[in-house]
Amino acid sequence: MTTEKDLRLFFALPCPSTLADAICSWRDTQKFDGRPVAQANLHLTLAFLGSQPASALEELKQLGSHLRADAFTLRLDQLRTIGHGFACLIPSQLPSPLSQLVEQLHAGLSTHGFALDSRPFLPHVTLARDAQTPPTATPPMFDWHVQRFGLFLSEHTPSGVHYREMANWPLATPSA
Ligand code: ATP
Ligand code: MG
Repeated sequence: MTTEKDLRLFFALPCPSTLADAICSWRDTQKFDGRPVAQANLHLTLAFLGSQPASALEELKQLGSHLRADAFTLRLDQLRTIGHGFACLIPSQLPSPLSQLVEQLHAGLSTHGFALDSRPFLPHVTLARDAQTPPTATPPMFDWHVQRFGLFLSEHTPSGVHYREMANWPLATPSA
């Protein structure tokens, strides 16, 4: 049962604001169908936890602090509609540090008894919701230099959904 104290939590890569600006500027020239996602909300979900008791927060922060992966570049080069009308940017190549990060995270969450969505991990950055018509544009190659990941609280506010960063961790500088 969901109570007032439950927190809606997820691990994600927050999109750096310069890149988010570039992506949203491009999106806004494409006249996408659907509700655009706010620039500040662009992210890539690594694991969605749903409603959790506030007491889970410390355990999740501990878990996040034990994950190890190198920083990497993620090239967002495909546009696709997934689920119920989510227009998304998707990478055609999955960098191995991203796979390593997600594997460790999902394994750690399972070990700690957190139930995860049974669908396989599909990296995506949602640009618009409730799109009736799939976008057909070919996106430019957006290169995202991913240097950290975080744990986020999803909150409803009068101005829309807001993601509050509860903790974040750096990725390691890859050795040459
Ligand atoms: P809202 O649902 O209030 O319109 P939102 O979808 O942005 O807003 P959340 O539902 O809290 O906010 O989701 C946070 C992130 O987790 C989003 O990236 C969302 O796509 C993802 N997410 C939500 N539900 C699931 C799920 N069952 N499996 C995987 N990812 C999910
Ligand atoms: Mg949602």
